[in-house]
Amino acid sequence: MSEDYPLPQRDELEISIFGPGYGECVLIHYGDGKWINIDSCINPQSKEPQSLEYLKKMKLDPSKCLKLILCSHWHDDHVRGLDKLYECSKDAKVVFSSCLSSKEFLTLLKAYSTNTMMASTGLNVLNNIIQINKEREDNKIVFASAGKLLLKDSVKGEPENLEIEFWALSPSDHSVKNSYTSFSNLIPKANLPKRHVNTFSPNDTSIVVQLTINDESYLLGADLEESGNVSIGWSAVLNSDIRPSKKSSVFKVPHHGSQTAHLESVWTDMLHENPIALLTPFNRSKLLPSDDDVKRISSYSQNIYISAEHTRVKKQKYDKVIEKMLKDNILSRRLVIPEFGQVQIRKKMNSREDFKVRLFGSAKKI
Ligand SMILES: [Zn+2]
Repeated sequence: MSEDYPLPQRDELEISIFGPGYGECVLIHYGDGKWINIDSCINPQSKEPQSLEYLKKMKLDPSKCLKLILCSHWHDDHVRGLDKLYECSKDAKVVFSSCLSSKEFLTLLKAYSTNTMMASTGLNVLNNIIQINKEREDNKIVFASAGKLLLKDSVKGEPENLEIEFWALSPSDHSVKNSYTSFSNLIPKANLPKRHVNTFSPNDTSIVVQLTINDESYLLGADLEESGNVSIGWSAVLNSDIRPSKKSSVFKVPHHGSQTAHLESVWTDMLHENPIALLTPFNRSKLLPSDDDVKRISSYSQNIYISAEHTRVKKQKYDKVIEKMLKDNILSRRLVIPEFGQVQIRKKMNSREDFKVRLFGSAKKI
């Protein structure tokens, strides 16, 4: 066990969030050395899945400690390295959104994964996981939708045992049905130009999860968005009468803090006042969270932590003479990739104590 990376205690809950500016991963210790992994992102320096690196730093063997690997949706920024993680996690169940169980999706996967020009990282990773899974006789892929209990466990505690439940709150039946039509439309047809698979956004089919431990509860919002349609997105989650009714004290803010994933009643009806808000940035085509997003989230929480800077990395401009000298003498200048960040929160599961927060790399409190 490394000095910098001590293990959580047997009865300690840990939620760690990783995200370097492109990508997101959440790792949860729910007691007795057992972990859940949600999504995956790559360390830009080592090119390794960040959660795998972290487990190794703690001298943990993923094949023994990882019980569940969940893919919230198949956007590239949430699945990079998930196949590698699954490969070395022989004991873990893998959970996909139930929209991926359709024959329309499997046809789409086949069409795109056999054409290297068209394939997306997200689809390749899913295809790899399905292939690894086929070689494992005793392991099944679990398909999640609203109201499904994904994991139930009991951990010895004092003065009482800890009952752990891990619930899927989405996607709604309606979102799953919608996805079938979207998948069929994306399947390349003869004589028609092929469409790039990224034109379809799977955010609506994201798996939002709620972890409950006795009376405590924690909400992890994936990239689920809100459109005002009561049958899909956050409105469908709010309107569900089968989700756990406990309010949560930690919120993984959905879709990198975007306004498109905001629904006020999630903050008022599903969360305690002033919860811990965990965020990862998205620094590609669109910058998330925006300053307005941060302002809005700050009106609900004073405990916001982000895994890395939410600013676009710009090439530094020097004065004209230095710029010319650099141009004449150096073939190319690369941007320095920001350091990887991690927000780690831990607390004893059977106590009312506050979470202890540790920030690694470029993670910070907003
Ligand atoms: Zn995302």
